[in-house]
Formats: sequence, structure tokens, C-alpha cells
Amino acid sequence: MEIVLDGLPLARRLTRASALLDITGLEVRYGGIAALRGVAISILPGQGVALLGANGAGKSTLMKAIIGLVRAAAGEIRFDAVPIGSLRPDRRARRGIGYCPEGRRVFPGLTVAENLAVACWGDVARKTDEMFALFPALAARRASPAWQLSGGQQQMLAVGRSLMNAPRLLLLDEPSLGLSPLLTDEVIGRVPEIVAGGTSVLLAEQNAAKALSVCDVAYVLKTGVVTAHGPAAALAASDDVRAAFLGG
Ligand code: ATP
Repeated sequence: MEIVLDGLPLARRLTRASALLDITGLEVRYGGIAALRGVAISILPGQGVALLGANGAGKSTLMKAIIGLVRAAAGEIRFDAVPIGSLRPDRRARRGIGYCPEGRRVFPGLTVAENLAVACWGDVARKTDEMFALFPALAARRASPAWQLSGGQQQMLAVGRSLMNAPRLLLLDEPSLGLSPLLTDEVIGRVPEIVAGGTSVLLAEQNAAKALSVCDVAYVLKTGVVTAHGPAAALAASDDVRAAFLGG
């Protein structure tokens, strides 16, 4: 029997209370087109969460709505139990949300170390060392301008930069885009380490197999609607997910 309190099932109420990020009824529109409809997701502290979906499903839009780059037409976004939907992106970042957008937008004329330093409002030396421990390939290039790095190194730099303020939640949008399988492994393979370090991760990926292998739970978005969610291992075994994302 489901217990309902003030219109909300008790199980859902308990999840909301302990969630780091809790989204309900989220709707985002671009003009007349609804890019997200009735989206509900929860991310707990210490959780890696995969966000799967085809091109145009709404993954980037959901990330932009969480950090505040697009405005929601309806719904609620709570971070640490506080509604953040009306806050500017920089305020959301200050509360502990890191954002690594699709397309590795590093500063090409700055060195690796400078790219990391400009994004940090804390102890730059300590955080830089942490990023070099996470991505040793960057340490060897610390004095190189970012334009000289390979695509994979630039992606590592973009991820490292978004971690410089030790966010409690990292929004990681399609880090494997344009990378070889080996480099994809190097970048996405760091997700469990990032989560173990105290940063929950929402990982949007078209490389579903890889994303499911490094995350605890997963959500599937289809044309702006969440069509499935659950433990990553269960989704990896589901016929629908296998047919849609894992080659049958
Ligand atoms: P991709 O993997 O291609 O990045 P996605 O799952 O991240 O796809 P979104 O980029 O969020 O999907 O796009 C969701 C829908 O919203 C798509 O139909 C897209 O065409 C549309 N869309 C995205 N950005 C805009 C915009 N600035 N103006 C109008 N429509 C947009």
C-alpha cells in the first residue's frame, strides 16, 4: 500500500528530503516547442547519474535548466532542499553546481595551469595538484597553451576546470563527443573517482554503454520526457535500453 502525505507519496517525500538535486514537473520551451515536459529527477549525494537520450532528446537543455542558462516554464528545481529556479547561473555555481558544457570551451590562448586557475575561487595550488592527479596527462602539459592540446586533453582540461571549486554536483555534458574510444575511457572512466571525491555527477552521454558502466543510476530522456529510470545495471539489462542505445 502506498502511503501519501499532503499529496506526495511517502517514498518520494523521503527521497526529496535526502536529495542533493531534486527536480519535479520541469518544462522548458523554445518558442512554441517543448524541449522538456514534466521532467522529474533526483540525485543523491555520492551518486553518479547517467542521462541517456538520442540527439535532440533534451539532455543539454536539462543541464542548462539546472545551471540556469535556460528558464523553466514550469516545475521546481531544488538543490540541497532550496529552490534555485530563480537564481542566476553564478549564484547556482556558488551553491555548489559545476557545469562542463558540450564542446570543451577551454581558453585557447591560456596555458593549462591558467585555464584551471581562472576558474578557481579557492586554493589554486592545491586544487591544481588535485586536477593533475586526476588527469596526469595534463600535468605534463601544464605550461602549454590550451590550443596545442589534443582533443582528449582539452576535454580533460574542461572537466578539470569545472571541478576547481569542488562542486557538490557536476553537470557533465557529452564529454566523449569527438573522442576516440581510448580517450573516452580516460575521461568518462574518471567519473567514479570524481564521485568518490564528494562530487555527484550528472553525465549526459550518447555512449550509453560507457555511461552505464560508470554510474549508479540512469535516466532515459526521449523527446523531452523521462521514459525510464532506475539502477544503471538494471537499465543496461532492459530490452528497451538495449534496443535503443546498446545495439540490441
Ligand atoms: P544533443 O545530443 O544533440 O546535444 P540533446 O539531447 O542535448 O541533443 P537538446 O540540445 O537539449 O538535446 O535539444 C532538445 C530540443 O530542443 C531539440 O529539438 C533541439 O532542436 C531544441 N533546441 C535546443 N536548443 C534550442 C534553441 N536554442 N532554440 C530552439 N530550439 C532548441
